Amino acid sequence: MIEETIFSKIIRKELPSDMLYQDELVTAFRDISPRLPTHVLIIPNRHIPSVDELAEEDEAAMGRMLSVARRIAREEGIHESGYRLIINCGADGRQEVPHIHMHLLGGHDVGPMITRKG
Ligand code: AMP
Repeated sequence: MIEETIFSKIIRKELPSDMLYQDELVTAFRDISPRLPTHVLIIPNRHIPSVDELAEEDEAAMGRMLSVARRIAREEGIHESGYRLIINCGADGRQEVPHIHMHLLGGHDVGPMITRKG
C-alpha cells in the first residue's frame, strides 16, 4: 500500500485543521500557509497520490471536488470577484503532498497564470 500523508490524518480528524466541509467523498480545509485571503484545499477522502494515479472509480470524487469548490467560493463571498483552482501533479508540477488536492485561491487578483518558460 502507498504510504498515506498528513492529509489522511486530517480527514480522520487525528490532526487538527480548519475544516470547512466533509462528506463521504471529499474533505475541505484551509491551507496552513495561505497565499491569498481565501486558500482552501479540497481533497478526496481516498488516498490518491496524484492526478496521474486516478482511476475510473475516482470520477465521482473529482466531480465533487469542483462542486465543493463552488460552494466554498460562495460561502467565502468570492464567487463574483473570481478565484483560481489549481491541482499540482508530480515533480515539474511542484506537488509537495502526495495526496491529490485542489487549491481554491481568491480574495484578490491572483496574478497572471504562470510565467512563460522554456
Ligand atoms: P502542493 O504544493 O500543491 O503539494 O501544496 C501542498 C499544500 O499543502 C501547501 O500549500 C501547504 O501549505 C499545504 N499544507 C501542508 N501541510 C498542511 C496542513 N497540515 N494543513 C493544511 N495545509 C497544509
